[in-house]
Amino acid sequence: MNAYKHLLVAVDLSDERQPIVERARDEAKLHGAQMSLITVIKPLALSYGGMGYPMDYSPQIAEIEAQIVENSHAQMAKLGQSLDVPAERQHIETGNPAGEVRRAAETYRADLIVVGSHGRHGLGLFLGSTANGVLHGCSVDVLVVRIRAKI
Ligand code: AMP
Repeated sequence: MNAYKHLLVAVDLSDERQPIVERARDEAKLHGAQMSLITVIKPLALSYGGMGYPMDYSPQIAEIEAQIVENSHAQMAKLGQSLDVPAERQHIETGNPAGEVRRAAETYRADLIVVGSHGRHGLGLFLGSTANGVLHGCSVDVLVVRIRAKI
């Protein structure tokens, strides 16, 4: 078996991250691999497409974004602690999630990206937007973990 050495786990810090981090932890154990975490903060103007960025940038938006950054750091630290992932392997980037995840995999020399997928977007988009984007042009293996809908 070709064992993976370094897993990069993409987490959006929502409640749905649990099955992804559990699967990643199991895979890391199986392969004796180290694990890194990444979450990507989407600039608000990017999330609400159509608005010119940074043209519509206001102090209010800056304040909300600062809160999001602070909250992301707090959540990431908590998650890292629960998974025994040290601070230097907890990455918080800003930009387009799929692109930043791919970039981080190269920068930090991960050989497997673990990403979730809702799989409820219809045939063409069945992987979900982020998982789909990560796969596009990705130079390392990608493990897509299905996120089951809560009933
Ligand atoms: P999506 O289907 O696009 O909502 O995303 C599903 C999965 O993509 C999540 O479970 C994460 O693994 C990853 N993902 C989505 N957004 C982010 C983000 N902002 N930062 C890191 N990973 C993300």
